[in-house]
Amino acid sequence: ARGGPKVTTIDWTPLLAHLDRPSALWPKKIELDDVGLQFEGKPPLFAGLNLTIDSGDFILIQGPSGSGKSSLLRLLNRLQDPTTGDVLVDGASTAEGDITRLRRALAWVQQTPVVIDGSVADNLTWAFGFDIAKRKSPPDRETLRGWLDAVLMEDVALDDDASVLSVGQQQRLSIVRALLTGPTLLLCDEPTSALDDASREIVQDWLERVNIEKGIGVVMVTHLPFTPRRARVRRLLLEAGSLIEQQSERGAEA
Ligand code: ADP
Ligand code: MG
Repeated sequence: ARGGPKVTTIDWTPLLAHLDRPSALWPKKIELDDVGLQFEGKPPLFAGLNLTIDSGDFILIQGPSGSGKSSLLRLLNRLQDPTTGDVLVDGASTAEGDITRLRRALAWVQQTPVVIDGSVADNLTWAFGFDIAKRKSPPDRETLRGWLDAVLMEDVALDDDASVLSVGQQQRLSIVRALLTGPTLLLCDEPTSALDDASREIVQDWLERVNIEKGIGVVMVTHLPFTPRRARVRRLLLEAGSLIEQQSERGAEA
């Protein structure tokens, strides 16, 4: 529908109630230490990048297409190794660290949503199959229903095949699923690029909420304009091989 749902009418309470603050807050800090990246047969993408991300930060990385935004995000959870320099978690090199633990702590949300084969309910309860979540009992159907409604998916049934949802619905589902694994930080690569305006508003609002109310960090790459409503956002510009930190800003409704 034109105009779409108004974000201000969304009640996030059922979902927020089910999310923990990251329990064992790890890592507290991620650093790019003089990081350079060059792909074979290509000129260096960037060199000498330095950045410190604290666990509760909301960071926006913007920059032109091809500037290396996605690569930078993949460096953080070690899907990509740096050519020079190092990526540190709490001061220790990720090269020798526990990559599985790192990737769980830094949940990756891709531009094209990834849904798990199965129903919508399967996607929502996926996290509860992990060791880390086993101490928590899986949510009942009523709770799951409440979560879907919270992200404005009233017309979606729990038993619907997740692969038939619209891209916007799949993205909302994949973000909720990622959050339920209990990450310290969400790494979001253009999470709203494939979405219509209404879904984009919902996702942005949701990311700000989990950041403010649950202390979950967000590193969001986007080429789209982003005006925070509530969160304190650190803006970084990746352009021509350098990372420029701009003034942080706080949403007007904060
Ligand atoms: P952005 O997300 O800002 O558009 P990317 O990080 O996706 O930028 O890509 C930056 C550049 O690095 C592009 O020229 C891209 O083709 C190149 N690139 C990215 N990943 C690889 C790879 N695995 N191998 C070779 N080149 C790559
Ligand atoms: Mg990209």
